Amino acid sequence: MENALYMKDSYIKEFEGVVESVKDDKFVVLNRTYFYPGGGGQPHDTGIMACNGETYNDEGYHVMYVGKFEGKISHEVSKPGLKQSDKIIGRIDWDRRYRLMRMHTAAHIIDAVLYKEAGALCTGNQLGMDKSRIDFSLEMLDREKMQGYIDMANEFVKKAIDVKIYFMKRDEALKIPGVVKLASVMPPEADELRIVEIPGVDLQADGGTQVKNTSEIGEIKFLSVENKGKNNRRLYYTIA
Ligand SMILES: [Zn+2]
Repeated sequence: MENALYMKDSYIKEFEGVVESVKDDKFVVLNRTYFYPGGGGQPHDTGIMACNGETYNDEGYHVMYVGKFEGKISHEVSKPGLKQSDKIIGRIDWDRRYRLMRMHTAAHIIDAVLYKEAGALCTGNQLGMDKSRIDFSLEMLDREKMQGYIDMANEFVKKAIDVKIYFMKRDEALKIPGVVKLASVMPPEADELRIVEIPGVDLQADGGTQVKNTSEIGEIKFLSVENKGKNNRRLYYTIA
């Protein structure tokens, strides 16, 4: 996915591209994109495209959905009109994306604390704008303990740690203990894996967008913990 540029720079809000193909008048593939197609529990981006020198307006091509299909990132736009070779400017809905980035890096810190303190493995997660959830394989169901783990996570947030993103040869990366945090999801079959490292806290293979520094998360707020069956706990949190 050489054209999936959000993997290299998660802070680009506006970019130029060229339409490679359009299917059914609304599914647009670009030669390069910063729109996140969803995945790993992080929802897709939304935004808008302006075409051939037009400026953005409410009548523009709103990006309603972004997904990965047959190895290509497809942008579903709100109206027909775009065609092959059109030059576009894409603009990501930054409020939405940035909040999801903060939620995402928070999830990595929470994962790491739960793993270190309780030996809990993350079994799934879903980030959201209002609240996010992470499932853990964990016997304990104690509100106060959970609050304690979130307090620990907030200590890492406050330490203002720079988040490192780099690529590693797949074979080498898979030798690192814990590099794959979601037991059920193996990283893509690629020569190189993208690694997200929060030094001293967490390191994992990840394809999502992350903040540059943990302080950008603000504050993680514990919402609730639910029983989701034997040894399965669902934690809800938000950020402020
Ligand atoms: Zn992640």
